[in-house]
Amino acid sequence: MKVMFAGIKDISLIDVCGEPSLTVWFCGCNLKCPYCHNWRIAEAHASTCYPAELSEIYTAIESASSIVDYIHVTGGEPTQQAVQLQRVLEFAKSVGVRTSVNTNCSNPSIIESLLRRGLIDHLATDVKAPPDFMIGLPRSEALRYWRGFTNTLRLIREYDVILELRIPVLKYGAMSPELVASSKRYLVKALSIVETVSKVHLVLNPILGPPIIDSVRNPEWCSKYAVPGIRDIELAETLVKSLYSRADIRLAQHASLLPLGT
Ligand code: SF4
Repeated sequence: MKVMFAGIKDISLIDVCGEPSLTVWFCGCNLKCPYCHNWRIAEAHASTCYPAELSEIYTAIESASSIVDYIHVTGGEPTQQAVQLQRVLEFAKSVGVRTSVNTNCSNPSIIESLLRRGLIDHLATDVKAPPDFMIGLPRSEALRYWRGFTNTLRLIREYDVILELRIPVLKYGAMSPELVASSKRYLVKALSIVETVSKVHLVLNPILGPPIIDSVRNPEWCSKYAVPGIRDIELAETLVKSLYSRADIRLAQHASLLPLGT
């Protein structure tokens, strides 16, 4: 069976809670986030993606199985190729490697099917709030995405999964007060759902854009709202700590790329 994929990173220490992992990129995504720096993968661009045999991925997993703790499947949105995702996770389990999926959580039925089969040990996702601002789709689709996202968070409460919940941090001063308030309302909702998940890591995720990275889907959007300053990060941290009592909050490693003078 073939999968549209964009490659494998042999060993990573930044994708799964600092644990050594083998990262696999699946192509295709159903969202159009303006800050997406993997947009060529998300759009299955011919310059980046190609159809590969699953056996190519199995071979890489097997060779790395003695040195990695996890296989991490990301994208794009891996659930867009649900059968291939299930096969890869099953193979990883069969050779004793734990599994991690980075997903936008828009498809609860696929995630539920994988959870029921015991195929996800670690799940990473972003709180794209407010959705109609963050995912680049019309409001009706953004609200449908958000329902899927919150339903997926509810499902996770029923399984023994490590949840890595990333909270995008933007330049709040560039956003209208209404937009900031809306973002907070959605964040409150998401954090209230995961309050009873036993293993949660919250990650403040500064959104990058030019001049740090040029390869984003919408450079204009990013020039306005991305690359937050230190005060934005402090504001986000204070807010999250006030909303989530069991705070285990860290800053994404790529924050070291920010010019954090302001
Ligand atoms: S969900 Fe992820 S891969 Fe898809 S468009 Fe948004 S940032 Fe890009």
